Amino acid sequence: MPITATEKIWMNGELVDWDQAQVHVLTHTLHYGMGVFEGIRAYETSQGPAVFRLTEHVERLFASAQILGMEIPYTVEELIDATKTTVAATGLSSCYIRPIAYFGYGEMGLNTLPCTVDVAIACWPWGAYLGDDAVTKGVRMKISSWTRHDHNIMPPASKTTGNYVNSSLAKVEALRAGYDEAIMLAPNGLVAECSGENIFVARHGKLLTPPLSAGALEGITQNTVMTIARDLGFEVAVDNIARSDLYIAEEMFVCGTAAEVSSVNSVDDRALPCPGPMTMAIAEQYLATVTGEVDQYKDWCELVS
Ligand code: PMP
Repeated sequence: MPITATEKIWMNGELVDWDQAQVHVLTHTLHYGMGVFEGIRAYETSQGPAVFRLTEHVERLFASAQILGMEIPYTVEELIDATKTTVAATGLSSCYIRPIAYFGYGEMGLNTLPCTVDVAIACWPWGAYLGDDAVTKGVRMKISSWTRHDHNIMPPASKTTGNYVNSSLAKVEALRAGYDEAIMLAPNGLVAECSGENIFVARHGKLLTPPLSAGALEGITQNTVMTIARDLGFEVAVDNIARSDLYIAEEMFVCGTAAEVSSVNSVDDRALPCPGPMTMAIAEQYLATVTGEVDQYKDWCELVS
């Protein structure tokens, strides 16, 4: 999806003009993929723009860095403030936000210990990642020929830039084959997640979603959806999912900050009931939640000013 330029990008403590937010071609992370990033959304609420679960996203950025042994030279609070400052500087009421921490220019070679850590935060308008009608019409899924990382190869719990080689290979393979998104299986064959979303399937009336141990990212939308689903009275469990569970799911959806809640209409050309009643109820409540309309979840909407 093309990026729409906005006014300012936050880089290492300063707001710089969009076109000035440059890095050197010998930036360490460009060569070795050792960067960590986040994908966050701000939504328009009746009290002004609010960043959804901003604190949890910034905390996960620090957790991703911790897994890599990278020390971000700011505090969680400083990057929360910096994110709000960046959103306010663009004047957008809703947007996608991309913070990234990376090893900068100055050192080369695989040893990251002497490297400086740079941080940038950008935001721009971005629509529904899997399409505007992804909730009602559903998306076509393909199980990828690419396997999700093993924990001892690339840590899937860290939102590391280099990990996304795996996701991109899977996504492009699925698109070229005429599908919308790829489902990734772990090395042991169990379902992990999609290239950029977590998965929920309904079996015997209960919603299941794979654990972090299966190679899934600990999704903030996954966590939000579990809370919403339970509060709506649905049964939810974090549990292993086998490939066959996907083919005979009573309903299935995927979720992530970019994709929000999107129904799945088929997996490997096996049609699934779509949109499912639980999916529709959760998707509706999710939209109301992120836009600050549900009192019990209002604290998740962190106002920009
Ligand atoms: N899995 C992967 C691989 C992702 O890239 C994302 C998007 N960050 C997710 C799951 C969903 O995470 P979240 O709900 O926190 O956006």
